[in-house]
Amino acid sequence: MNTLMDETLLLLKEASDNHGDKLVYSCSLSPQGMVLIDLICQYDLGIRIVTLDTGRLPKATYDLMASLTDKYGGILDIRFPDSEEVQNMVKSDGINGFYDSLENRKRCCAIRKIHPLQKVLKGKEAWITGRRKDESKNRADIQAVEDDPVYGLKKYNPMRNWTEKDVWAYIRDHELPYNALHDQFYVSIGCDCCTRAISMGEDPRSGRWWWENEDTLVECGLHVSSLKAPKGENESGDGI
Ligand code: SF4
Repeated sequence: MNTLMDETLLLLKEASDNHGDKLVYSCSLSPQGMVLIDLICQYDLGIRIVTLDTGRLPKATYDLMASLTDKYGGILDIRFPDSEEVQNMVKSDGINGFYDSLENRKRCCAIRKIHPLQKVLKGKEAWITGRRKDESKNRADIQAVEDDPVYGLKKYNPMRNWTEKDVWAYIRDHELPYNALHDQFYVSIGCDCCTRAISMGEDPRSGRWWWENEDTLVECGLHVSSLKAPKGENESGDGI
């Protein structure tokens, strides 16, 4: 654990030294996000932490935001979608139109997640993610620092070598808050309407957009490569 922590801290400091206020951590409030927030605050790294409120998150996620504010103060910069874009989409597709077609679902993810993230990343040089290699086969090759072809930034992945077990050991040892839905067999938690609990042995990503075919389940969008997702269409986080 110490080696992992040292490696993570070193990369966070490197990112902070290299990019200063042109660096942002886009946090999905996942378990590894809890570790990163704790390290950033505990070691006073001064890295801006942004999270996206899509407007459709589960109550447990809002409760977690409140717990983080209680523990660390106002460290979370919470960003929201453009209200006019949401209103127009709801008018054309319906309030739950994302269930009707892949096109609608991508439009909803674009408006509620990608466009706000694009605004967060505008003018930045680099961003930090909480992605881990063991999350899926698509993430097995994550490097410490990558060129992000979608956003044209450096992408730092300080949690890439942590396993799920390492993350939960840190959370328990440090008594960190976490999303209560994880205690109800929810693994990857995003919007309430697009997230479900999974059964033992199921791919963790199958808890998201389960009504779509397997090819569209592999990534939530924000970290999909430009080869798989045209810009602005399906690059929706780190979990949200
Ligand atoms: S996860 Fe579902 S509700 Fe959330 S932005 Fe995507 S389609 Fe919309």
